[in-house]
Amino acid sequence: MTEKNEDGARSGEQPDREPPLSEGRTAAPQRSQEGPTPLRRPGEGVPAKPEGPRSSVLDDVGALAGGLKTTLSEFFKPVITTEYPEEKTPRSERYRGRHYLRRYDNGLERCIGCELCAAACPVGCILVIAAENSEEKRVSPGERYAKTYEINMLRCIFCGYCEEACPVQAIVLGPEYELSDTSREKFIYTKEKLLEPLPPDVEARLNQAHAPLPTPLPRGERETLPDPPPSRGRENIS
Ligand code: SF4
Ligand code: SF4
Repeated sequence: MTEKNEDGARSGEQPDREPPLSEGRTAAPQRSQEGPTPLRRPGEGVPAKPEGPRSSVLDDVGALAGGLKTTLSEFFKPVITTEYPEEKTPRSERYRGRHYLRRYDNGLERCIGCELCAAACPVGCILVIAAENSEEKRVSPGERYAKTYEINMLRCIFCGYCEEACPVQAIVLGPEYELSDTSREKFIYTKEKLLEPLPPDVEARLNQAHAPLPTPLPRGERETLPDPPPSRGRENIS
């Protein structure tokens, strides 16, 4: 038969009483008999009752009707939400987006590798490495052409200074602004990518803004031409 000790527990079993505080147990917090302290005293923070006459039911109905009138008048107006990206809002004619390199009508590249665009770029994101044209391999009408032409589109701030600096309107900024891609390397636009055909609306705008440049003649025929007309600033490329 199992004997009970003086606490009433059977010998060999843990006693039911809690260990004394001296053995590391912390005292349980005393529960208040009155409940938690309220955050506000009664009446504190309650806004005062508005003074003056109370609005009648008719006034309330009138205000409700006024609100509904505004809602219903907007409901029957044409929807102006643009379903982007299926629909796009028109951009300004002078919007500066993605860059393009242009060609003349006879297929020669306009860029003559002068590096003025790279010098004008405030963030240094254009790399031009020029090479000499030869009779066997003529790429541009000038003495040199851009053997390498790269733009780091991650650095570009689309200021348009390169377009302004170019003496032959070779580099232009088009309207494209959706330039997302999947890697940093793809944002280095190479010459091949920049020579992609220009959107027709941009070509029309450029021709409207500047008198179209004459298509350059081969070197032998150029020497027989009469004296060039007076300088026309950036459009004079002869
Ligand atoms: S738009 Fe401005 S920042 Fe971009 S390449 Fe041209 S000059 Fe440089
Ligand atoms: S794009 Fe224009 S400014 Fe730049 S290197 Fe070519 S010709 Fe010169």
